Amino acid sequence: MKKKRIEKANLPTKPCTVCQRPFTWRKKWSKVWDQVLYCSDACRRGRRGGFGRM
Ligand SMILES: [Zn+2]
Repeated sequence: MKKKRIEKANLPTKPCTVCQRPFTWRKKWSKVWDQVLYCSDACRRGRRGGFGRM
């Protein structure tokens, strides 16, 4: 098994689909990073418009 090391200074980021602000990878998302679309629970609940439903 390969171990992926993610260094603190080199964490991936991507923009929140709701507020468009970039957010940073978090450990709790390590398994679902590809599915994370929102920077916070507030954005997840308060999403506006018709962004894709997962
Ligand atoms: Zn957001």
